[in-house]
Amino acid sequence: MTSSVAEETTARHYETVIGIETHCELATATKMFCACPTAFGAGPNTQVCPVCLGEPGSLPVVNGRAVEFAARIGLALNCRIAERSQFHRKNYFYPDMPKNYQISQYDEPLCTGGHLDVEVDGELRRIGITRVHLEEDTGKTLHVGTTGRIHGADYSLVDYNRAGIPLVEIVSEPDLRSAEEARAYAEELRAVLLALEVSDAKLEEGSMRFDVNISLRPVGHAQLGTKVELKNLNSLRSLYRAVGYEAERQRRVLADGGRLVQETRHWDEGTGRTEPMRSKEFATDYRYFPEPDLVPVEATADWVDGIREILPELPAERRRRLAEATGLGPKEVGWLARDTEVLTYFERVAKGRDPGVVAAWVMGELQRNLREFERAMADNPVGPERLGELLDLVAAGTVSATAAKEVLAEMFTSEAGPATIVERKGLAQISDTGELEAAVAAVVAANPDLAERYRGGKQGVLGALVGQVMRETRGRANPKLANELLRRAITTTGERP
Ligand SMILES: [Zn+2]
Repeated sequence: MTSSVAEETTARHYETVIGIETHCELATATKMFCACPTAFGAGPNTQVCPVCLGEPGSLPVVNGRAVEFAARIGLALNCRIAERSQFHRKNYFYPDMPKNYQISQYDEPLCTGGHLDVEVDGELRRIGITRVHLEEDTGKTLHVGTTGRIHGADYSLVDYNRAGIPLVEIVSEPDLRSAEEARAYAEELRAVLLALEVSDAKLEEGSMRFDVNISLRPVGHAQLGTKVELKNLNSLRSLYRAVGYEAERQRRVLADGGRLVQETRHWDEGTGRTEPMRSKEFATDYRYFPEPDLVPVEATADWVDGIREILPELPAERRRRLAEATGLGPKEVGWLARDTEVLTYFERVAKGRDPGVVAAWVMGELQRNLREFERAMADNPVGPERLGELLDLVAAGTVSATAAKEVLAEMFTSEAGPATIVERKGLAQISDTGELEAAVAAVVAANPDLAERYRGGKQGVLGALVGQVMRETRGRANPKLANELLRRAITTTGERP
C-alpha cells in the first residue's frame, strides 16, 4: 500500500466544495438580439448580420421567446423571477467577440434564489441555484496547428454563426460535495431543460457546457478554500472525471504541505489531467455597464403566472408518477424518466403489458440496436406499436426471447411487422415435444459430465444445458419445454443399468 497515513488523514479532514456554472443554448429559431437563424452546422459565417457582428449603428432587439424560455427554466428551478432585470455590456477583447463586449445580465439577473433536488445513491440532496441569467453566445474559433489550442497555433479561423445565440447561465451554490454529485446535478439539470423543451441540451454539439469551481476546506469550516475553476467541460463523463481528478490533486497538494493557487485550469480528456491555463486567456476586469441600447426586461406577475401555468411535468414528478404506476425500481424509473421521448415511448409500449418486461426491452435490446444502427430515439425506426407486437409474440410463446432479439434487429432495417419476420426467418418457437426431443438428446449425449452433476444434485447446471439447446435450435426452443424435456432425458438416461 502506498497511501500514507497523512493522505488518509487529509482525506478524512477535508471536504470538497463544488459549484457549477452551466451554459445552455436556448432552442429559439432566431438569435438573442437579431433575426439571424440559429441552425447548427450551417456553413461558416452564413448566419450573421450587422447586429450580431456589432457593426456601428446597428441596434439589438431582445428576443421575447428567449426571455420566456429563461423564465421557464427559473420557475422549474424554484427561482424568483425579477420584476425588472437589466442587460449589461461585459467588455473584453477576444477574437470570438466581434463587438468586443458580450451582452449579459450582470447584477440584475432574471431569476434568483432557487434549488434543484438531486438524488445520489438513494439520498435526496437539495442544491441551491444562485441565479439564472440571459446572455448571448460568442463565436467559435478554430486554432489550426499542432495542439488545437491558441498557443502554438499557426493561424486561427473564426465562425460567427454562434455569436448572438441566446444562452442561459445557470449558477449553482457551492453545495455539491463529490464528482458523483456533480454528475447527478448536471444530469438532472439536463433532464429538466429537455422536459421544458427550451434547449436540445446536446453536450456533443456544445449547446450545454459546464464551468466548475472546486475547492477543499477542513470539515466543519464555513469558509471556502482556494478555488480552482475548470472551464468548458462538455460531457458528463469529462465533468465526472475532471472533478474527481482535480479534487484528488488538491488533496495531494495539501497533504504534501503545499499551497493551492487560485487559477483556471483546463481539462485534458486525453491525459486525464487538469493543466493550468495561461492567465492571459481570461481577463477578469470586464468593466460592466448597463447596455444603453436595451430597455430593462419587465416581468409582470400575470406574465410569470402564465408561464408557470404551462410548465410541463418535470423529471422528479415524472419519476414519482412512473414508480407508482409501474412498481418499477428507482434505477429503471430514473433511466426511463430522464428523457421525454424515451418515457413517452415506454408508456405507449407498456400500455396493457408487463412494465418490467417492457422496461427491460426498452433499456436493453432497443438501446443496443439504436447504438448499433447509430440512430437516436427521435428517429427510432421501431415504433412503439411494433415493439409491442413483438413482445406480445414473446408473451404468447410464438417466439422465444432469444429469437425475438434477432427479430428486433431485423425490424431496424425492415418495414415488415414482427409476425411476418418471424415467419420469413423461420424463427417460430418450437413448442412441439417431438421436434425438440432430438436436440435435447443430442445435448445430453454431448455433455455427459453436466448430466452426471445434475443427477448428483447440482440443479444449477440445467441452465447451461438449456442454453445449449437454445443454441442448437437457433434460439427457437421453448425454454420451459426444453427444461422439462432435459430433466426427463437426464433422469431416463441415468436409470439405465
Ligand atoms: Zn444577426
